[in-house]
Amino acid sequence: MPDLPLSDLLDLDRRHVWHPYGPMPGRVEPLVVESASGVRLRLADEAGELVDGMSSWWSAIHGYNHPVLNEAARDQLSRMSHVMFGGLTHEPAVRLAKLLVDLSPDGLEHVFLADSGSVSVEVAVKMCLQYWRSVGRPAKQRLLTWRGGYHGDTWQPMSVCDPEGGMHELWQGVLPRQVFADAPPTEFEESYADHLRSTIERHADELAAVIVEPVVQGAGGMRFHSPAYLRVLREACDAYGVLLVFDEIATGFGRTGALFAAEHAAVTPDVMCVGKSLTGGYMTMAATLCTPRVADGISRGEVPVLAHGPTFMGNPLAAAVACASIGLLLDQDWRAEVKRIEAGLRDGLAGASELPGVRDVRVLGAIGVVQLDHEVDMAAATAAAVREGVWLRPFRDLVYTMPPYVTGDVDVARIARAVCAAAQEG
Ligand SMILES: *Cc1c(COP(=O)(O)O)cnc(C)c1O
Repeated sequence: MPDLPLSDLLDLDRRHVWHPYGPMPGRVEPLVVESASGVRLRLADEAGELVDGMSSWWSAIHGYNHPVLNEAARDQLSRMSHVMFGGLTHEPAVRLAKLLVDLSPDGLEHVFLADSGSVSVEVAVKMCLQYWRSVGRPAKQRLLTWRGGYHGDTWQPMSVCDPEGGMHELWQGVLPRQVFADAPPTEFEESYADHLRSTIERHADELAAVIVEPVVQGAGGMRFHSPAYLRVLREACDAYGVLLVFDEIATGFGRTGALFAAEHAAVTPDVMCVGKSLTGGYMTMAATLCTPRVADGISRGEVPVLAHGPTFMGNPLAAAVACASIGLLLDQDWRAEVKRIEAGLRDGLAGASELPGVRDVRVLGAIGVVQLDHEVDMAAATAAAVREGVWLRPFRDLVYTMPPYVTGDVDVARIARAVCAAAQEG
């Protein structure tokens, strides 16, 4: 098949291909990526290379075209790329489940493999609602979360995303109505802890679960909060009979400096979602883990099964690459790498707080955020980063980076320069 000329490709893209959060036809011309290797995206038509500051939405923690992950995919491909998971099982899925149980907070024993983060959240919600139905409390079917969160784009996840994002107004009457606490402050405040406790207590009879992103709220606003709030949630959920769900889809696998953000507070949730970097960014897969209590509750109910089973559940190719990606992470001193990137981002972004229009600069683990006092001009900000040779994807009032853990010091400094340039020109 001959390559499409670039102008044809872009024209067809504009006319036929829907891009994330975009109109149809698209208004902004995307960059065309020809290949990617290490931390670099190679653009088509010899337009050069960009250092990737996004890890393809938090996922490509080992960079692109990694020989170990490539080999895992090739090896699995030569056996089978997929078989159905109903009535059949296979080594990649079993190995992956065992790895996740071993690495995740103590007490999470069972793994449901899902095909995307949003689906894993749907499964988590279904588990919680079904648990209460099974144990004779069918009225417990609402969720509580704090504002500023993001849990995915399908219906249940959307219902617990930050209600200020616009989508809640658009979907009023369609979305399930959930209970919202205020957004968590950065530092620990006893008055906010009380607010969490009293909101959970007040709604306990109708709450199936509390669902939050631990320590870092990602796409809902890139905000960090004290891990101590996770202990408050755990205690209040136990006291008032509510399940606790941690969505670690963005924070899992080392991004915040702990393997899972729950570790910052030494808290085990009843249900936990992982995704994004699970396969090192190679393909889509996520997982919902739960405790024996949740699984037993469901299995003793009137309908003793979890009625969920995606066609591509447990996909062997994705599972094999996920095992290889986790192995690759554990085989290196990833904590040191994340710390090194954290130091580099702190250094490189230190000057950003002096820039006009900048409201806040924050760094945690391999996450660097510059928050503006205005909506970012996405086209101008992206163009400024590209001029620095870096790929960034700002949104709302945020210019941020989550580089692959393999990003070298020179490239981390370059990414930080690009974040500053984007913040200045966006
Ligand atoms: C990205 C994300 C999701 C959704 O995952 P998809 O794979 O995009 O469906 C859910 N929760 C969090 C915290 C995320 O960052």
